Amino acid sequence: MTQYFCPACFAEVGSAAPVCLACGVTAADWEADRTYTQRLVHALGHPVPTTRMMAILALKGRLEPDTAMPLALCAQAYPVDVVQGMEILRAIEALAADAPQRQAALRNLTTHPSRLMRDRAAELLEQPPRTGDPGSP
Ligand SMILES: [Zn+2]
Repeated sequence: MTQYFCPACFAEVGSAAPVCLACGVTAADWEADRTYTQRLVHALGHPVPTTRMMAILALKGRLEPDTAMPLALCAQAYPVDVVQGMEILRAIEALAADAPQRQAALRNLTTHPSRLMRDRAAELLEQPPRTGDPGSP
């Protein structure tokens, strides 16, 4: 059976319930009041890991620098999920290298509990901006 969650507070709700019993929000109104990017950023806090991962992958495709810090904070909030964390690093890496939001997010991740994450974030911070170098792996 498919699970349905309130988009605002992530309480599990019935598929037919127009109003969340946990927070009183009407799903349709909540969604109408937010941009797609805002909803994706909000979904980074979703309790179901696959839903978070879908939000990360969708944000990665949007290349919006303002999503860098929310992504970094998602990696910090779920420190044991290194698969998710590495995808977050790839999403941040894909942003324009001169975006200050990207650099701030990477600096945040140099404090991540996972050494793998810390090292990769530090490596990306040190890299000079890439300009479509076809020789790089
Ligand atoms: Zn709710």
